[in-house]
Amino acid sequence: MVAEPVVVATWRFGVQACRTAWKVLESGGGALDAVERGANVTEEDPEVQSVGYGGLPNADGVVELDAAIMDGPSHAAGAVAGMSGVRMPISVARAVMERTPHCLLVGGNARRFALKAGFQDAELLTESSRSRWLAWRKEHGSPDVAHFDSASMELGIADGGKCLSHDTIGLCALDVHGHLAAGCTTSGLAWKIPGRVGDSPIIGSGLYVDNEVGAAAATGNGDEIMKVCLSYRVVMLMGNGLTPADACAEAVRYLLRKRPGHQSHGAACIAVSRTGLTGAAATAEGFSAPNRLWQYAVGTRTGVELREGPYITL
Ligand code: ASP
Repeated sequence: MVAEPVVVATWRFGVQACRTAWKVLESGGGALDAVERGANVTEEDPEVQSVGYGGLPNADGVVELDAAIMDGPSHAAGAVAGMSGVRMPISVARAVMERTPHCLLVGGNARRFALKAGFQDAELLTESSRSRWLAWRKEHGSPDVAHFDSASMELGIADGGKCLSHDTIGLCALDVHGHLAAGCTTSGLAWKIPGRVGDSPIIGSGLYVDNEVGAAAATGNGDEIMKVCLSYRVVMLMGNGLTPADACAEAVRYLLRKRPGHQSHGAACIAVSRTGLTGAAATAEGFSAPNRLWQYAVGTRTGVELREGPYITL
């Protein structure tokens, strides 16, 4: 099957990721490579303080990364969770998928695997992320409570709105061969309780692909997203005949129905169908501030475009 390639990525920073992913797709490359290369761009950008190198650390000042990748044709997947000291975690996730019989490696042993697989030992904190953590610690101190609260959000907004205290780069791609892939990678919540893992490395929650149906990825409040397997739900709804746009809206509606009052930090998803249609949706709650609008990027033959919304309420 020959398809018209397309790539979708979360957030404004998804524009750069989409540009790189599109180059792979345009030259006839595979969706899996497109997703990985695109995600690497955001992971390596120290300005994006919620993903990869330069991501904001946990309450102890340690950057713990979550990432996963899923391949449509083989229905294979790999992930790492709570991994510190290694850059480009989505590439480590791909190595887990391709070089082990396993799906998810965690913590120190994910790092051990990465170093053995040839990834370099790396400092993930930048000057900026370290000084933000020091400022937070001075103010809040104790690492043994959840910090996914208004105080941590305000810290992000006070920083010029460049980066809030969490956000994931998620990508879904369809290549010229009609194959799908999805990936997501994040440093999770800033100042999180050490060991906290979000939705991103959980197959079905942060991402899901069915090569005969479509691909989806999620961002936002991972502790809520994983309670409804949001990305699996989007793909399942597409399998039932909904368009990606309707499937995303319905999956977000389901989350709102099941967990009313828990979305003050927002949840959102993106999707691509096997025929190349795209869609997205976000909870209205959590995305009302001007510097917190739900935006996502779509890359096609005509270029990369930034879109906004739709916002779902019950
Ligand atoms: N979903 C991520 C997490 O909970 C954060 C985000 O995408 O905003 O770790």
